[in-house]
Amino acid sequence: MRGANDVSASPDGDPWLLTPGPLTTSPTVKAAMLHDLGSRDRRFVAVNGGVRERLLAIIGGGEDFVCVPLQGSGTFVVEAMLGTLVPRDGRLLILVNGAYGHRMARIMRVVGRAAEVMEWPEDQPVDPAAVAERLAASPAVTHVAVVQCETTSGVRNPVEAIAEVVAAAGRRLLIDAMSAFGALPLDAATTRFDAVVASSNKCLEGVPGMGFCLVRRAVLEAAAGNAHALTLDLHDQWQAMEANGQWRFTPPTHVILAFSRALDEFDAEGGQPGRGRRYRENCRILIDGMRRLGFETLLPDAHQAPIIVTFKMPASPRFDFQRFYDRLSEQGYVIYPGKLTVAPSFRIGCIGRLGAEQMRGALAAIECTLAEMGVTDCAA
Ligand SMILES: *Cc1c(COP(=O)(O)O)cnc(C)c1O
Repeated sequence: MRGANDVSASPDGDPWLLTPGPLTTSPTVKAAMLHDLGSRDRRFVAVNGGVRERLLAIIGGGEDFVCVPLQGSGTFVVEAMLGTLVPRDGRLLILVNGAYGHRMARIMRVVGRAAEVMEWPEDQPVDPAAVAERLAASPAVTHVAVVQCETTSGVRNPVEAIAEVVAAAGRRLLIDAMSAFGALPLDAATTRFDAVVASSNKCLEGVPGMGFCLVRRAVLEAAAGNAHALTLDLHDQWQAMEANGQWRFTPPTHVILAFSRALDEFDAEGGQPGRGRRYRENCRILIDGMRRLGFETLLPDAHQAPIIVTFKMPASPRFDFQRFYDRLSEQGYVIYPGKLTVAPSFRIGCIGRLGAEQMRGALAAIECTLAEMGVTDCAA
């Protein structure tokens, strides 16, 4: 409910989503969905093929990689990647520093494939040197999985350096780049990995509903029959799509139309460098403004990805998070509770169709809410 004096600046009257997803999308991306196309429709098949090619181009995948889209939220394609690409007699080392790393470990238990976990605190990046040591001592490990930006805290993991030690040890790397893809660089020509997954929402600013895996062609070819589930079999999905350009099962046509439009807007912004620049600027405005109000970030700036920022919960007894959250939401800004196990916290995202104006608007709403609650000290 909005109060009489509250305003939302969104053109649709919707709140701005300063969250890890779903995220704010542009009016033009939403408008692109106002068509009902059949799954065999030539226009749809062409749009789908274009989306697949453009996603490959973002990592410079060339002929060595293929793009396999999949229905569902991001976790579906993470599960599909692990189930399709880790062989039944393989063993996965999962580099964990947050909830999404733990989720991969849970997927491996459910899928019934061997895995082991190497864990760091949630406020620290994965250490490539430690991974190199672990691999030297673990000959049974065939694959390594890592999250590029651990959305739990917002920490950026050094995937390029991790890829180097994994390749040097002769193992294969699988990347969950869900919250980083399109905003942080990832170049298949200079970083050695077998597969990366991301989704239509998050930094590419489409609507939620599908994920995709960019995978080495030779690796996927060798994965026939390996998947644990028909619906999550990336090899089968790929083969069917190569055969006639169509999806195996009902495609999320509206999501794909919106995604195609979102990729136009991504290109118009200058691709990954342009998108990354806007998010870095959002992140800078947010962190500077929050520190000015007395809040403390969980991470030092050196480890912070420009995706989502974790703030420590103020210790002041006047600070009531539920009220803080509700009042910001009434003013048109949705933030997100923390997911940390180490400390009480909350998160504010910098991604989606948001710019400097929205970040400043959120800061003004936060300042006003603190005054309402009578909070003068935001130290943790
Ligand atoms: C958002 C996200 C996912 C996928 O989450 P869904 O809720 O299934 O879309 C996976 N990994 C990371 C790092 C994410 O940020």
